[in-house]
Amino acid sequence: MTPSIRPLIVGNWKMNGLTASLNEFNAFGAGNDAALRRAVDLIICPPATLLSALAHSAPGKGISIGAQDCHMKDSGAHTGDLSAAMLADAGASAVLVGHSERRADHGESDAIVRAKAEAAYRNGLTAIICVGETRAEREAGKTLSVIRRQLKGSVPETMTARDLVIGYEPVWAIGTGLTPTAKDVEEVHASIRAELKKIIGKEEGARTRILYGGSVKPTNAKELLAVPNVDGLLVGGASLKAEDFLTIAGFYR
Ligand code: PEP
Repeated sequence: MTPSIRPLIVGNWKMNGLTASLNEFNAFGAGNDAALRRAVDLIICPPATLLSALAHSAPGKGISIGAQDCHMKDSGAHTGDLSAAMLADAGASAVLVGHSERRADHGESDAIVRAKAEAAYRNGLTAIICVGETRAEREAGKTLSVIRRQLKGSVPETMTARDLVIGYEPVWAIGTGLTPTAKDVEEVHASIRAELKKIIGKEEGARTRILYGGSVKPTNAKELLAVPNVDGLLVGGASLKAEDFLTIAGFYR
């Protein structure tokens, strides 16, 4: 944690959730009591099909709605894609860009991620830019250089702490049940903080929220949240159940 930064917990539902998930979302709202609202910001990123429904149901729950991806252009002939303008119109206030599953499944380069972050900025959405090394890169001792390269390539210099969040998600930790040690997370987050200060300036870089993501569970969240420069968490699987997500966020009470 960084004492002067308001923490943030983001839930990424990925390709999970049908209309019935609205009941689960109501449980998120019911459990987000006054103490939790005072302590931490919450964002849920449902699949795009549920964005509008969750955004309509969100007022009063103290939970913001995010999207999982956006196109780099605001409109045009891009069948099947969604622009940041559309996501904002549907009620999103944030969007994940450069998630490792998008980088791997859709060949998204740093330049593409940067263009998507710029589209988010243009349309008033907070860009949650994801970075992270593969297992092979970690084993080759390249973690810090890979993260630095991703940040340099993906983060627009004009962004500020208000419209930017960084998610550090080691690819090998996502959905595997494996997590880096607290010492490893501390090292990477310190390096992200230093690089951000170079890219967007000392003051903005010092205030930008840096989240850890990858197999976060109620059983390991407390230890991860205590790591310096971990300003919150990006939670995949454990964000599908209100009870687990609220237990994780509840460590900030
Ligand atoms: C993610 O994909 O953003 C993620 C953190 O997934 P999980 O928590 O399931 O590892």
